[in-house]
Amino acid sequence: MSQRAEDLFHRASKVIAGGVNSFTRSQLAGWRPFPLFIRGGHGSRVQDSEGREFLDCIMGLGAVFPGHREPTILEAVTRHIEQVGSVFALPIEEEALAAETLVRLVPTLEQVRFCNTGTEAILFAVRLARKFTDRKKILTFEGMYHGFGDAVYFSKDRIVIPWNDTKSLDAAIDLHGTHLAAVLTEPIMCNRGYCASKPGYLNHLAERTRNNGSLLIFDEVITGFRAAIGGAQDLLGVQPDLTVLGKALGGGYPVACLGGSTNIMQLVTDDRVRMMGTFSANGIAVAAMIASLQLYETSDNFKRVFNLGSAVREQLKQEVKDLGMPATVDGIGSVFQIHFNCDSKVDNKKLFEKWWQGMLNRKILIHPDPNEVVFLSMAHIIDDVNYFIDCARETLKSL
Ligand code: PLP
Repeated sequence: MSQRAEDLFHRASKVIAGGVNSFTRSQLAGWRPFPLFIRGGHGSRVQDSEGREFLDCIMGLGAVFPGHREPTILEAVTRHIEQVGSVFALPIEEEALAAETLVRLVPTLEQVRFCNTGTEAILFAVRLARKFTDRKKILTFEGMYHGFGDAVYFSKDRIVIPWNDTKSLDAAIDLHGTHLAAVLTEPIMCNRGYCASKPGYLNHLAERTRNNGSLLIFDEVITGFRAAIGGAQDLLGVQPDLTVLGKALGGGYPVACLGGSTNIMQLVTDDRVRMMGTFSANGIAVAAMIASLQLYETSDNFKRVFNLGSAVREQLKQEVKDLGMPATVDGIGSVFQIHFNCDSKVDNKKLFEKWWQGMLNRKILIHPDPNEVVFLSMAHIIDDVNYFIDCARETLKSL
């Protein structure tokens, strides 16, 4: 690691707690000895403070789905800033277009409200479910992250059970029954590494939730647009009552959304559940969202990235198999992860650390935490996938 990154980190650490502004960038999250400092990004590449270029497979933890500085989004955002402004504390005309597009694309959305982050949207979803059902408890799943709001992070009213385990689900619903306001889940687990739902599990979960009078909330902050343009709910044909979108929704700009049926959203309409925010649906977010959604609907790169995702997963699986590595490769769309399956968790962690370091040395940027996933973007091309695989082969051989 370079002197400049060390100097930047020490300078930042004096005035920024931990030297970074999000845990996932911290030493504790695996960025050792220091996090890389990024000078800029373009397409699928980023440059660090040393001027070294990396193939970016973090892509803003999934947010920058179109690629860094994608021209149409950049143009839409800068035009909006220059010709309109940023925030007025009153609606702007374009908000309805963004909402109409989402309602058209995502099967269960009839009405939405925009805010800035996934954390905020989840907070509102939980509040809405509690008010709608007049119940308090929220059922969530081990390892799933839904932002850092107390209700889903610490609360005594949060029940946590293993994911993909029908027996635990049935037992929890039987036990907490009429106290359960909502079941909150990612439809496909993407933030504890990657884990697809077992066949029939989500349908069972949806049926039990509904029969129990609880609301089903899908956290599609990662799966939104990445599993399919209509989200995992569209791909899997399972219908949540409430949906949360974020990350790729703004193509790299901060915007998130909570939506569902008009019937449930009525509580927001008539202010039984208050949803507000100075920066909600600010002009930058709305312009970015409209441009991103247009890109997802029209660009060939959107279709292509699904093929790239399949290609990288298949080839990585083959490498792992050829080398006889104790590892599996899973993912969907433009998301994937390698999971090491040694006898001990400690060995898995060590192997992942070496994998991450080996890839970094070969100028491939992935997150050091195995609970994150690898993200491709619409700016990635087949040469990037081939390069990734060449580096992966060398790295895996060296473990
Ligand atoms: N939900 C999921 C599935 C996430 O992965 C994240 C963030 O990583 C969030 C919610 C929180 O979103 P944000 O970081 O925008 O608050």
